[in-house]
Amino acid sequence: MSRMRILVANDDGYLAPGLAALVEACRGLGELDVVAPEQNSSGTSNALTLQRPLSVWTAANGYRYLNGTPSDCVHVALTGLLPQRPDLVVSGINNGANMGDDTLYSGTVAAAMEGYLFGIPSIAFSLSEKGWTHLDTAARVARRLIEQVIALPPVPGAWLLNVNIPDRPYEDLRGLRTTRLGRRHASEPVIRQSNPRGEPIYWIGAAGDAREAGAGTDFHAVAQGHVSVTPLQVDLTDHACLPAWGSWLERAGEGGR
Ligand code: MN
Repeated sequence: MSRMRILVANDDGYLAPGLAALVEACRGLGELDVVAPEQNSSGTSNALTLQRPLSVWTAANGYRYLNGTPSDCVHVALTGLLPQRPDLVVSGINNGANMGDDTLYSGTVAAAMEGYLFGIPSIAFSLSEKGWTHLDTAARVARRLIEQVIALPPVPGAWLLNVNIPDRPYEDLRGLRTTRLGRRHASEPVIRQSNPRGEPIYWIGAAGDAREAGAGTDFHAVAQGHVSVTPLQVDLTDHACLPAWGSWLERAGEGGR
């Protein structure tokens, strides 16, 4: 069997400690390519840069970085930059949790999702608190999980995992749990300030607290000291409500057109 090829990306930028930790975690597991954003691109979701071209540079340590989004990185890597298609895409390790509704905004998840959209098994890793305190814990978890999916592929075809690791010493972890996404309260209000010319400027407020964080959710698992592993899909269709909308269209007289 030919060697595994692993593409490593992130959203915190190519200089982030979490990226270096994930690269080290993958060391020896396959041929590694690193393509990461030049700047911190947290919160850029699945954005692709369409209004200008992208440049790719190689850092002294061999990482490649480009002046675009996390999705750009994986997209460019898969559609022309890399000589071969990777077998696995890993993203992170993010500076802070990506749980519940965060997954919609997360560049870390988006980079992994881009791999998944191209039919490649992909994993996003996030450390639950900002500041990299127990980054080594997250790196050890990442390595174990990557070793396991290589040794024993979980499901056929492409899949996408969102992994959140509690920010605590490795010895204090309580093992892995599969979870569903929780929900957050609405975000805090914007913060209004003035620029030096007296014109109003606005900072997006902090994310809300966990609202749906009961047993079975990612929030709950991490709060209990478990590593949260959420399998994600991309289909946003509200399948449960699809029949109700169909009959609503009929009632509204729009069904026949
Ligand atoms: Mn980030």
